[in-house]
Amino acid sequence: MIKKLFKRVFRKPARSKTTGACRVIPFEQHGVGRDGISYGAGKVTDGLQAAGYSAFVVGGAVRDMLLKRHPKDFDIATNATPEEVRRVFRRSRIIGRRFRLVHVMFGEETVEVSTFRRMIEAEDAQTDEHGRLLRDNEFGDQEQDAARRDFTANALFYDPATQEIFDYHDGYADIRANTLRMIGDPAVRYREDPVRMLRAVRLSAKLGMKLDAATAAPIAGMKELLSNVPQARLLDEMLKLLLSGHAVECIKKLRAMHLHHGLLPMLDVILEQPLGEKFVMLALQNTDRRIREEKPVSPAFLFAALLWHEVLSTWKQRQEAGVRPIPALHEAMDEVLNRQREQLAIPHRYDAVMKEMWLMQPRFEQRGGQRPIRLLALPRFRAAYDFLLLRCESGEADAQLGLWWDEFQDASDERRAEMLLPDSGGTAKKRRRRRKKPAGQADGAAVQAELPID
Ligand code: ATP
Ligand code: MG
Repeated sequence: MIKKLFKRVFRKPARSKTTGACRVIPFEQHGVGRDGISYGAGKVTDGLQAAGYSAFVVGGAVRDMLLKRHPKDFDIATNATPEEVRRVFRRSRIIGRRFRLVHVMFGEETVEVSTFRRMIEAEDAQTDEHGRLLRDNEFGDQEQDAARRDFTANALFYDPATQEIFDYHDGYADIRANTLRMIGDPAVRYREDPVRMLRAVRLSAKLGMKLDAATAAPIAGMKELLSNVPQARLLDEMLKLLLSGHAVECIKKLRAMHLHHGLLPMLDVILEQPLGEKFVMLALQNTDRRIREEKPVSPAFLFAALLWHEVLSTWKQRQEAGVRPIPALHEAMDEVLNRQREQLAIPHRYDAVMKEMWLMQPRFEQRGGQRPIRLLALPRFRAAYDFLLLRCESGEADAQLGLWWDEFQDASDERRAEMLLPDSGGTAKKRRRRRKKPAGQADGAAVQAELPID
């Protein structure tokens, strides 16, 4: 209590005195040693410094090291231009058109090097009609580079040679207080780039940091601005969020702040149905666990899971309107994907896998004849089976079905023969009839050729 009061009284003048100035924090105080950075990051800062430039580890990596977390990657900021960086490292290439960065390669590791940038002054800034910055690609100095970053915790520079941290915005104190605070006026910064609202949610969930009250306050009133952000950027951020290893926490926070509306519009609807909510949360928990275990996760699987209940309800509507099950499933998949694409640019490259996963679901019901054997042989059987298990666990599919497939996969030939259900002649007849159709009228993909027609 007394500590809090002390902080409140003394914080403001202390902060304003240091505005614009840089605090240098020695190793003895912060404790982050050079051995905490990657081989490549050390090589890049050494190389640039030997060539007469300044070079620092910046952003998320410094923050993570202070929080005793393993950084995902090490970004370097320097006063050398991209061409100058290129000249120092033979194995490097310039990437990006809007803002040019350099990738320096060391075996498996690629280190991203960016030249200090500055925020463009209000009068020269190009913004859209809502105030969103359309470009921020001017070179600047170190202090300007700190100021254009989003959170104080993300604006620290670490010099591996001296093991000092350069802090322009009291990020060090904020990290120690476990607080995520926007640099500058949060409302202005969200207007410049509304994605910062999503970053606030994602980073606070991922890092277990609390959002500073003034940083959180404007979000409720500004969330509509997200609808002006280009879809590709929203998707990028959404993927980072879903693949952060803390997706459940992120989605809960997004909902609590009513930020999920523009992102996955159907998520609102899905999360309101008990079965849908359970399924989505299970899928996210599963993803979080896989990421923590360093197992691969596929965005297509995740999107297929997020959209499944929407596909299910549209599929049902189509069948009620008299369309046969399989054509109805195709129509439902296309409709859901098109609707979603208007909001969030889920790239077409994921469509095939998502559809495959969905189309294989009704095939799990077919446990007669050779069909289960053929299903097992499909390259994406494992993913589709994992998907089925989530359905069983959420209560949408029969738990017995999951158990049957669990046993069938690893069973001996004799046991499989016992397990197979009697094959109904009716379906086979219908299948033969269906094969006589001219090719143009068939529904296409091999995966559905075996499904019963009605
Ligand atoms: P993560 O650990 O998830 O990678 P990060 O903070 O490193 O988190 P990046 O997207 O890799 O996030 O960004 C690197 C750095 O660039 C950030 O630490 C921040 O300083 C700056 N940055 C990223 N996005 C923005 C933004 N929208 N506005 C201002 N600065 C940003
Ligand atoms: Mg990063």
